[in-house]
Amino acid sequence: MKKKYIIAIDGPAGAGKSSIAKMVAKKLGFVYIDTGAMYRAVTWKVLNSGIGFNNKNKISEMTKKTSIELKYTPEKLKVYVDGTDVTESIRSQEVTLKTNIISSIQEVRNVLREKQRQLGKTGGVVMEGRDIGTYVFPAAEFKFYLDAKPRERALRRWNELKAKGRNVDLKEITLAIYRRDYCDRHRGISPLKKAPGAIVIDSTNMTQKEVAEKILKTVGMQA
Ligand code: C5P
Repeated sequence: MKKKYIIAIDGPAGAGKSSIAKMVAKKLGFVYIDTGAMYRAVTWKVLNSGIGFNNKNKISEMTKKTSIELKYTPEKLKVYVDGTDVTESIRSQEVTLKTNIISSIQEVRNVLREKQRQLGKTGGVVMEGRDIGTYVFPAAEFKFYLDAKPRERALRRWNELKAKGRNVDLKEITLAIYRRDYCDRHRGISPLKKAPGAIVIDSTNMTQKEVAEKILKTVGMQA
């Protein structure tokens, strides 16, 4: 029987974490958990509830009472907030820009971290985010830190959005990536950084398939 271990994948925006984590999960028959979607879900709810983004207490209280469900089929990850399908709306530019504010609130992180630990406690998961190997599951059997040069990450994001029919400026995307990186790396709590013992993969010159294969090889060799 396949061992049900935890694979943690962290890294900055646009490093390819989601696509690669999905490929790895599919191959292993593991559950894929996108923790960024949870921070986006809270942000979406704040935007739609009229609570001010500086009202940390209200946001924290609201987060405690919010149901966030991630339903994953091999084709697509569906995200629900209190039963409403927010899969598409949490990817809007507005949500993307505001998520940094939500992800730096300690109480919100505590609530979401607890949910993430519950989701992963039985193992057999590939969980991706910014603090999985450092804070959520520091004892995960396998930890990876996925990176790529900022210019390459911006180009990937730009191509992704273009493919979805969105008319976006590469310069704007590049600036947004730099800004998001800065916020995620420099926040006081759970900043983005390589976890001790994590294997660093620079995917700048690699295809997603090559990165997924590298992870699977590591897991296969050591598991
Ligand atoms: O992964 P994604 O780009 O969707 O994440 C959106 C934002 O959520 C990140 O920029 C970061 O601020 C926050 N996040 C986080 N910790 C995680 C996952 C995401 O702070 N584990």
